[in-house]
Amino acid sequence: MLTSHSPVLTPSNLAEALHMRAENPEAMPLAGGTDVMVFIESGAINPAVFLDLWSLRELAVIQEHADGGVSIGALCTHADIIAHPATQAAAPMLIESCRTVGAQQIQNRGTLAGNIANGSPAGDTLPVLLALDAEVEVESRDRGSRRIRMAALYTGYRSLAMEADELITWIHLPPRHPNDRTHFRKVGTRQALAISKVILAVRLRVDEGVVVEARVAVGSVGPCPMRSPAVETALVGHSIDPNMADRISRDITPIDDVRSTAAYRMAVSKRVLRSCLRGLKA
Ligand SMILES: Cc1cc2nc3c(=O)[nH]c(=O)nc-3n(C[C@H](O)[C@H](O)[C@H](O)COP(=O)(O)OP(=O)(O)OC[C@H]3O[C@@H](n4cnc5c(N)ncnc54)[C@H](O)[C@@H]3O)c2cc1C
Repeated sequence: MLTSHSPVLTPSNLAEALHMRAENPEAMPLAGGTDVMVFIESGAINPAVFLDLWSLRELAVIQEHADGGVSIGALCTHADIIAHPATQAAAPMLIESCRTVGAQQIQNRGTLAGNIANGSPAGDTLPVLLALDAEVEVESRDRGSRRIRMAALYTGYRSLAMEADELITWIHLPPRHPNDRTHFRKVGTRQALAISKVILAVRLRVDEGVVVEARVAVGSVGPCPMRSPAVETALVGHSIDPNMADRISRDITPIDDVRSTAAYRMAVSKRVLRSCLRGLKA
């Protein structure tokens, strides 16, 4: 239960929501509330007004396109994504990451867009969306909609390339290429219900034994989820070489915090990536 006494704006459709967002840029959007409520309870935030998006059922849908691409509405929960045949076909790695978000109750209520907008460096789905070259569509009343590549979305710690009057409306996934090999791994204190110490998502497109496209994305090892250009560049043009994993140290900047140490995160990132590359090579 929300224990804030601040007023809640309750639009009944997207047009109303965008209008309210434009008129009240200080209002905090509320989707599933699984991040927002924790922040309120801990005293980290105290918004003067909320914008409740939950009733925007037009955005609680998943659309499959003729080319195999998929668009996920901003109000789709992790459970919706796990259950949908289109996301299962286009992005099995995304399904795996949604399954690691909290437990069933959180997956039933928490949305993919909320995970993205919350922008935690430890958000489980974010490296996956980076590795898949996903695009996030945002919309405002006054300027309409635009798409932001995941690779351009995060500008710093919990900082997104979005304007105060914009809302996330859709997440677009490109079609799955038949030559793509993917791997997702979350390292936490436990198998379930743990915030990650390191998250890894890799997608390699391999043509006749040669890597022609590489996406290596990591979370929990820097101020925001990020790709590793050093490893990606080293992989392309060759057969999969697990030794290239060590180059990830050129891109990541892990820190010591309550969950882990920088040294542990660095060592685990290299080890998990090497093991992933070995698996994708086999
Ligand atoms: C017990 C527990 C366990 C958890 N475990 C994990 C875990 O293992 N891995 C993990 O990654 N996360 C975890 N989380 C965090 C959280 O559940 C996820 O980040 C979830 O996806 C957030 O979605 P939401 O819809 O609840 O977002 P909300 O809490 O409603 O919103 C989160 C942020 O996004 C903004 N926002 C939401 N929708 C939009 C939109 N359409 N446009 C613009 N801004 C928007 C809000 O203003 C807010 O800043 C956990 C949370 C809890 C309470």
